[in-house]
Amino acid sequence: MRVHHLVAGRMAPPLGPPIICHVLLVEHPDGLVLVDSGLGRADLADPKRLGPARHLLRPKAGVTAIDAVEAAGFDPADVAHVVLTHLDFDHVGGALDFPQATWHTTAAEWAAATSDIKAIEKSRYRSAHLGGSPVVQSHAGEGDPWRHGLSAIQVLDGITLVPMIGHTRGHAAVTVEGESGLVVHAGDAVFDASHYDPSLAKVGILRAFEKTVVRLPKRLKINHAALAALHADPDVTVVNAHDERAFPTTGG
Ligand SMILES: [Zn+2]
Repeated sequence: MRVHHLVAGRMAPPLGPPIICHVLLVEHPDGLVLVDSGLGRADLADPKRLGPARHLLRPKAGVTAIDAVEAAGFDPADVAHVVLTHLDFDHVGGALDFPQATWHTTAAEWAAATSDIKAIEKSRYRSAHLGGSPVVQSHAGEGDPWRHGLSAIQVLDGITLVPMIGHTRGHAAVTVEGESGLVVHAGDAVFDASHYDPSLAKVGILRAFEKTVVRLPKRLKINHAALAALHADPDVTVVNAHDERAFPTTGG
């Protein structure tokens, strides 16, 4: 399948380097599929919808998933599915601009955000995003054994959720069978891409930021090691959500 890498948000945190919301747009036989959805137009028009975290991330105006889909030459009405690594605002907010699309998430993440909300997580999940009536397929369980001790849940042909909890209780990476190999979108399972790509320089501020927003800190090292193992697989391209250095200049 043809996979396009799109910038669906830009943020300028006061304490770190500028970061992006890196999403994938997949030309799937069932329609266009977005992997993560970055920021949405309603959020940028009224940033209060994002809650206090907007001060930490400072989203910039004018860059959203729907704008990126249009700029890439596609009709937003053709987006049939949105596969979400997790439900933080900078990953799900853009999905609201594709009201016809079915959302896919792990059942654990959907529960954490909607029915089993803990006080510590209350501000990260926004009713502006989750309080409507999206069509949601929440995928339960661990799925089938996969590479490097991980497991994979098939969501659509050629697209899986790989549970990778830590950043949130139900976080998952998403894999897509691309034309030139497997693309693994790690979401927020890693912030500093040098954790999995040793050719990059370490970015201490991204590492520190990751630790301030992680829900299950003990999972960080485990996830980084799994992503490094995947990155070393010759048929795999690993990207993450926010490190601009992971954004390729050509499609895959
Ligand atoms: Zn994020």
